[in-house]
Amino acid sequence: SESLATLDPDVHAQIAAELGRQQGTLEMIASENFAPLAVMQAQGSVLTNKYAEGYPGRRYYGGCEHVDVIEQLAIDRLTALFGAKYANVQPHSGAQANAAAMAALLTPGDTILGLALAHGGHLTHGMKLNFSGKLYDVAAYQVDEHTHRIDMAEVERLAHEHKPKLILAGWSAYPRQLDFAEFRRIADEVGAYLMVDMAHFAGLVAAGLHPSPVPHAHVVTSTTHKTLGGPRGGIILTNDEALAKKFNSSVFPGQQGGPLEHVIAGKAVSFKLAAEPAFAERQQRTLDGAKILADRLLQPDSKAAGISVVSGGTDVHLVLVDLRNSELDGKQAEDRLHRVGITVNRNAVPFDPRPPMISSGVRIGTPALATRGFDLEAFAEVADVISHALRPATDDAALDDLRDRVDVLAARFPLYPTLTEA
Ligand code: PLP
Repeated sequence: SESLATLDPDVHAQIAAELGRQQGTLEMIASENFAPLAVMQAQGSVLTNKYAEGYPGRRYYGGCEHVDVIEQLAIDRLTALFGAKYANVQPHSGAQANAAAMAALLTPGDTILGLALAHGGHLTHGMKLNFSGKLYDVAAYQVDEHTHRIDMAEVERLAHEHKPKLILAGWSAYPRQLDFAEFRRIADEVGAYLMVDMAHFAGLVAAGLHPSPVPHAHVVTSTTHKTLGGPRGGIILTNDEALAKKFNSSVFPGQQGGPLEHVIAGKAVSFKLAAEPAFAERQQRTLDGAKILADRLLQPDSKAAGISVVSGGTDVHLVLVDLRNSELDGKQAEDRLHRVGITVNRNAVPFDPRPPMISSGVRIGTPALATRGFDLEAFAEVADVISHALRPATDDAALDDLRDRVDVLAARFPLYPTLTEA
């Protein structure tokens, strides 16, 4: 019954400091967002105490009458949100959702074809140290050297060459939309399943601002904490009844034990919010903010400083800054932005000559700032700050001025104003 502050002042102090960091800086890591208080309330509830192995109405534990209602609400809201027939809301994370979906469709040794990690794919799409690279034979497609876009003719060629059992569409760092119908046509041609991992752009899909993969893919996986703005977690969607059964048994008992019902409650809340007009408006600002940033970084003064933008712009919530022609590498750029109070991650760009730990790019996303309430004017201001911070010639005094401009923005758009401590 003791509070966290008295029981464990060490942990409490760090949570309080983290709240201060989130409030006082500008979060532009493309995979991050700010969960609403209601979602965090659900996550911090008594539901964390409950075992509920199984599925609503078919549990291996007693006392599941309330978590059954909650999990069914999450499933019903999710299927309605994306127009899918079946959903599993139990994966603990995006990686778990992908592991379960693949385990349901594949046998170790089968071939998968996904976007190369170095070109924007995710670890779970076949990276050699990941389960996906260890269990399956991996073939990878890349983006075109000149357009930086996925070349569907190349995907088709590789599909015929490698005869994958599963083709993966989806990305962690790619600034354009995918042609899901074309991916499905190619998958059908070679007898492969099509899996779309929409972790990054799920919120845009939910808002109707990005094409939906659901009508095209055999299976769609996602995280719930990126553009979708919910608690950390994963989901699996399908329109195929037989596959839905396979996914359910692949998640439990295949990959997981007890579901995290407190997180599932948070998912249910976030799916409710994602169906509301305010959510769509926020996703529109997310897209507008990314376009403003790309446009700013394509201006002649940025170009003169060796700055470019992968694929020449963006259709989504992120911009991949290309620093291959800059004196600054990705690590230095990340540090510079950190110094002015903007949090991003360095990221390899396609055909990156620098090693991955250094890299020649930064990935900058707008979802968290849109959640914070940023309007177009505020996005223009942060874009200008970023463009100046990334110029090699910008000195310490100028960086201090940029930090002041960030402080003004952070104060103008308060985050969690009612939270004063953890
Ligand atoms: N899939 C994609 C496309 C991602 O970008 C990520 C996270 O970065 C994941 C899956 C994995 O999600 P998690 O970190 O929840 O395991």
